[in-house]
Amino acid sequence: MNREDFPILADDVYGKRMVYLDNAATTQKPLQMLNAMTDAYMHRNANIHRGVHHLSQVATERHEQARKRVAEYLGAKSAKEIIFTKGTTDSINILAFSFGEAYVRGGDEIIVSQAEHHSNIVPWQMLCERKGAKLRVLPLDEDLRYDVDKLEALITDRTRLISVAQVSNVSGTIQPIEEVISIAHRHDIPVCIDGAQSAPHLMVNVRESDCDFFACSAHKMYGPTGLGVLYGKEEWLEKLPPAEGGGEMIDHVRFEKTTYNQLPYKFEAGTPDFIGSCAFASALDYVDSIGRKQVTDYENSLTQYMEEQLAEVGGVRIYSRGTEKAGAVSFNVYSGDRLIHPFDVGTLLDRQGVAVRTGHHCAEPLIDYLQVPGTVRASVALYNDKEDVDIFIKALRKAIMMLG
Ligand code: PLP
Repeated sequence: MNREDFPILADDVYGKRMVYLDNAATTQKPLQMLNAMTDAYMHRNANIHRGVHHLSQVATERHEQARKRVAEYLGAKSAKEIIFTKGTTDSINILAFSFGEAYVRGGDEIIVSQAEHHSNIVPWQMLCERKGAKLRVLPLDEDLRYDVDKLEALITDRTRLISVAQVSNVSGTIQPIEEVISIAHRHDIPVCIDGAQSAPHLMVNVRESDCDFFACSAHKMYGPTGLGVLYGKEEWLEKLPPAEGGGEMIDHVRFEKTTYNQLPYKFEAGTPDFIGSCAFASALDYVDSIGRKQVTDYENSLTQYMEEQLAEVGGVRIYSRGTEKAGAVSFNVYSGDRLIHPFDVGTLLDRQGVAVRTGHHCAEPLIDYLQVPGTVRASVALYNDKEDVDIFIKALRKAIMMLG
């Protein structure tokens, strides 16, 4: 789909067609987004919110329009609920610090799952260390889905927040977050959703899912690197203190006392990425111009095709096979009982022009749970097609022959 819009895909790799299947790490960029970025630098580059001059006002207007665009895309009630950050990691760190300052005391508990990316573990762990709180872990069922039946038992009167991913960045599994949110809310516990892997592939709607916080990264959604979003329900954000101090986030600064800006600026210290925000809005426009539902359906069917094709390759063990996935499939290759190291598989695929990700995918607790040194992960985006998958499978068969 629309491969020609992505200039980098015209480059070859070792003289071969580039088969880019590392989209869960970052997506390639459409010309439309790249042009929007260049255009913003060429015609609207002035620091925002502060200037009385024309250029600053135009730049401010476009940045705030971009915020509205993101709010609309994610289904937020208001643009005030959209905080621009550096990415998912930054979003979760900001939330963990801010929420922790206001609501977490010694002996309190935060719940994450066994399948989280380090970005949704370490910030909470750091908070727990700071406050003397405890990190509790929601287990998985045999399909690597959250074992929601065990959630009730994990919740105590000290549980302050639950933070889980909507889609696993290792197995691509779509997680039952609606059930998590509904159980949590019955106990008046807020839920943060790590949407780094869901926002690029699913029809995310934060209001429909009723999550309290949601984090995602622009670079995984055809947008620029270094930009992300922290969504928070307005009623929560109003109650939380700022996580970082500096310009923009203040109302008045006096040595005796500083007062803070209104939402969302209270959480945006320093000069924001006002060029990246416009480029991100243009990436979202790009996806909408194709049709978000079409993109989602297309990627789902391609992921399913990839899993079916992989299942036919002898020695391949797919994780969470047969479950509903968004974008990614993870596997290992066995020669008899011997696991062929994912790094070796990835290296031989690379030599054939196929880019996949190997290793622990920044989710070591899940990899330990699977009792493997890592996995090979192939992940699709809207510009991949069956030809990419077929080349990948052929290259994998060749790699297995050489390694087996
Ligand atoms: N959470 C998940 C599920 C991810 O897949 C990733 C990145 O791969 C992150 C968080 C971190 O995203 P970023 O590095 O853009 O902050």
